[in-house]
Amino acid sequence: MSSDSNLTFAFEQSTSPLPLNERARLLEDPGFGRVFTDHMVTIRYKEGQGWHDPKVHQRRPLEMDPASAVLHYAQEIFEGLKAYRTKDGGASLFRADANARRFRASAERLAMAPLPEDLFLESCRQLVKADRDWIPESEGSALYLRPFMIASSVFLGVRPADEYLYIVIASSVGSYFKGGAPSVTLWVSDHFNRAGPGGTGAAKCGGNYAASLLPQKEAIAEGCDQVIFLDTVEKKWIEELGGMNVFFVMDDGSMITPPLGDTILPGITRDSLLTLARDRGISLREERYSIDQWQADARSGRLREAFACGTAAVVTPIGRVRGRDGLDFMIGNGGPGLQTEQLRTSLVDIQRGLAPDPYKWVERVF
Ligand SMILES: *Cc1c(COP(=O)(O)O)cnc(C)c1O
Repeated sequence: MSSDSNLTFAFEQSTSPLPLNERARLLEDPGFGRVFTDHMVTIRYKEGQGWHDPKVHQRRPLEMDPASAVLHYAQEIFEGLKAYRTKDGGASLFRADANARRFRASAERLAMAPLPEDLFLESCRQLVKADRDWIPESEGSALYLRPFMIASSVFLGVRPADEYLYIVIASSVGSYFKGGAPSVTLWVSDHFNRAGPGGTGAAKCGGNYAASLLPQKEAIAEGCDQVIFLDTVEKKWIEELGGMNVFFVMDDGSMITPPLGDTILPGITRDSLLTLARDRGISLREERYSIDQWQADARSGRLREAFACGTAAVVTPIGRVRGRDGLDFMIGNGGPGLQTEQLRTSLVDIQRGLAPDPYKWVERVF
């Protein structure tokens, strides 16, 4: 099959696909990110030659030179998107064009060769077709696609690589939370930062996650579920979680979310929820909101709900916020809020093809 970049994907059927009964057993309760499919996509880049050799082939370990640049200087970016099983047994992708655009922007920030967006899209379609039997059917489940790119030049000098390897793998995933999303307790990180002005916070790169793991570990040690980061300059403005954006719902139904900038990842779930809320007549402000204001509003009842959002878990209600020096407050009654639930359902119904799609967000793959 060809793409607009005039590259044709070669297809090598896996010679050792998982036996049907084993696959069926795994798909019963896949969890998140631990069940992988039979195939993968690879596309190579070399300066002077450009992108070449796009292939769908058996999923197998990478063989790489220990001096490969990514292993030393972390030139790596990734994406995360889901393919959904449709009612008639087909499959669809949700806003994959937005992932393709963001992947390009991330590549530019990390001084990597940008992958043409049509190649990104075609690589996702190809893998969904090759691994069509791995798309789970139960509610809340999906085929999670993980496109990523690494610097593959064999060179220890510090400079942007001149060779890259783009890969897509897929993982069958169940509902992130069984039986509806429970509320999470957040830990406010006051001395560790995720991203600073001029840094890589708006790029989806592994390095940002590496920086967030110690604060996340601290959150867990404090008995919390997730860490929430503040801005690095004034240490007061709420930015986002380690891998999810955040929304606040006030008592008049209006919503606030921190404005995008170079320290916040432009989430596609965030953008989709903004669109849905706007079309439902909900008043929205993309505005800075401080941790002190959040606490005051939660205590006074001016703030009713808060939630985090991202592709993997879609929408996660925030029930409680804690931090150093006894910071501790509840959001509403600590349980999932009504508006949060309604927005989540609206989004999920479009993603699964159960509601009309006026925004043309859903693309049918087969
Ligand atoms: C991926 C990601 C998000 C969520 O983005 P979606 O496109 O909604 O999945 C939010 N924050 C960070 C840091 C991320 O890496």
